[in-house]
Amino acid sequence: MRWKTGRRSENVEDRRSDGGLGASPFGGRRPMRVGRAVGVGGGLGGLLLVVVLMLMGVDPSLLLTDAGQSPTTQIGDYGAEAPQFRAPTSGAEEELKDFVSVVLADTEDTWSALFQASGKQYVEPTLVLFSGLTRSACGLGEAAMGPFYCPGDQKVYIDLAFYDELRNDFGAPGDFAQAYVIAHEVGHHVQNLLGISDQVDAARRRVGKVDQNRLSVMQELQADCFAGIWAHHAQRTRQILEQGDLEEGLNAASAIGDDRLQRQTRGYVAPDSFTHGSSEQRVRWFKQGLLEGRLDACDTFSATEL
Ligand SMILES: [Zn+2]
Repeated sequence: MRWKTGRRSENVEDRRSDGGLGASPFGGRRPMRVGRAVGVGGGLGGLLLVVVLMLMGVDPSLLLTDAGQSPTTQIGDYGAEAPQFRAPTSGAEEELKDFVSVVLADTEDTWSALFQASGKQYVEPTLVLFSGLTRSACGLGEAAMGPFYCPGDQKVYIDLAFYDELRNDFGAPGDFAQAYVIAHEVGHHVQNLLGISDQVDAARRRVGKVDQNRLSVMQELQADCFAGIWAHHAQRTRQILEQGDLEEGLNAASAIGDDRLQRQTRGYVAPDSFTHGSSEQRVRWFKQGLLEGRLDACDTFSATEL
């Protein structure tokens, strides 16, 4: 990818030096007061959990959500194991930070223009870099969950160590593969702004498990398609792609398909339990967005075949 000369986003929140445990990730904002917050467990169970955590030396407020903000479902995309504690940031990781801030800026430019063209205003999301553990409006964010988006605070969360995993465990190296991961999470943000996430949440409450999973697959494949829309416009206006980049992106989409992940972790594939879509579906919808570059080309919810 040709990214070095690109604009850097101002919406990157770096929490890596917080070390996760016990730190306040809210920067300049006042830390949340435990007294006003709502515990995850509630009642005695929640209280016990807090005591146990304190005995373990863990700041229990990491598990508490702001009382004024109802916890929302977070959208985790990977769920693989990632290292929990790492050495302080290296030069290579600083370059990665630089890279993700360029990709984020590019998604801002792309989506702002697309929203404006349809008379809407794009609200830029924040990208949080963390190391190991962090707090989000959706609850505790863990590196092991992989990158995720929290609609409640409109933030994308990523532990940059995930990129080692993407390269080494998922077999998906390359900068465009890394960009696709960010663009997919930003795709969830776009769904949130367009009200799609709320509709999906409401629909999920009315149906059984199999249909819930199917709705989740539709939502994930649409985020893949939105990632493709970003790549389409970034290429058209800024010619970011180099030889081999598309293959990297498609390979990453394929590597994190539910069928491939299930085969790797369980040894068999159970399509009803898919929440993100198969490798083939993820590649196809990413390509769809990439070729068409339009939101209406990404209506996975009305598609006769996913
Ligand atoms: Zn996703």
